[in-house]
Amino acid sequence: MLDKKLQAYKKKERIPQDTPAKYKDEFPFLKEVDSFALCNVQLQLEKAFKDHFRNRKQFKLPKFKKKRDKQSYTTNNVRDSIRVDFEKSLLYLPKIREGVKIELHRRFDGKIKSVIVSRTNDGKYYASILVETEDPRNKVVEPKSKACGIDLGIEHFATITNEFGSYKVEHPKYLLRGEERLRRLQRFFSRKQKGSKNSEKARLRLAKQHAYITNARNDFLYKLSKAIIDENQVVVVEDINVKGLMKSRLAKSISDSGWSKFLSYLKYKAEWYGRTFIQIDRFFPSSKLCHSCGYKNEDLALHDRTWCCPACGETHVRDINASINLYFVGLGRPEVTPVEQALVKNRSHPAMKQEA
Ligand SMILES: [Zn+2]
Repeated sequence: MLDKKLQAYKKKERIPQDTPAKYKDEFPFLKEVDSFALCNVQLQLEKAFKDHFRNRKQFKLPKFKKKRDKQSYTTNNVRDSIRVDFEKSLLYLPKIREGVKIELHRRFDGKIKSVIVSRTNDGKYYASILVETEDPRNKVVEPKSKACGIDLGIEHFATITNEFGSYKVEHPKYLLRGEERLRRLQRFFSRKQKGSKNSEKARLRLAKQHAYITNARNDFLYKLSKAIIDENQVVVVEDINVKGLMKSRLAKSISDSGWSKFLSYLKYKAEWYGRTFIQIDRFFPSSKLCHSCGYKNEDLALHDRTWCCPACGETHVRDINASINLYFVGLGRPEVTPVEQALVKNRSHPAMKQEA
């Protein structure tokens, strides 16, 4: 269908709109597959052309897929043609008589609308099930802390302060090790002769490691953002200019650390669970302000990890001080009364004292 459309396009003829049924005699295997798979491809193809004619700059002409790219098909649920047996971990799909054994990540309620079955380029199969549900949230828990301030960093993933003190979240060890292995596999792959059997083997190993890192990082970011949202009513982060920073020398570590993903997860989870998510103006001097007396240290350089406040004499660990300032911003919100603010300000932060 794509070929026919492209040929007509090249000859400046009218783009034909055929259906997959037309090809069933010529290609008998089309009779064996789920008809929704064919139908969805036709719809997607037509949408791709429509989009292109609507906006040629944004939507390029559709191309043929490479065989090594991700492969997938979409099928729809009609009269329970798609079912999940949670007890036996089986997924029932149209045209496949027996249930397919699956590794189920979680149970769900609601009506199954469609399923996308895909094979990634590391050779794994996934089924993504679209479900219509009243409420996508997990159980909403009562927040234990009024607010928290988060300072994102390169060396440590984040420094967080809330009612219970300050703590650092390190980059998970398995991610650091995984990235090291990824770099090794990349070097290994680039040394292989293009198109050789060994090169294909190396490519597959590299793709597997890539997939592992992506999944592991997402898992870490999902769990951390969920824990933060569960624990705090107001979450304050600095509005770091991710795009601007991406152009700088730090680009690699920032894109690797998943900051922007982390912030987007915090944002939508805050909406879901009725929390307040604040991204503070990036000109707010969270690192330069002394959290004890409010003195602004204009001389603070980027490499200063600790500093002593000339006004009150307190010693600060840079990122902890920044997260405390962000935390105070969070407390200043109308959700918190001034009395509570004063109470919290007088509390000591045991974790912080240890770090200092
Ligand atoms: Zn001070």
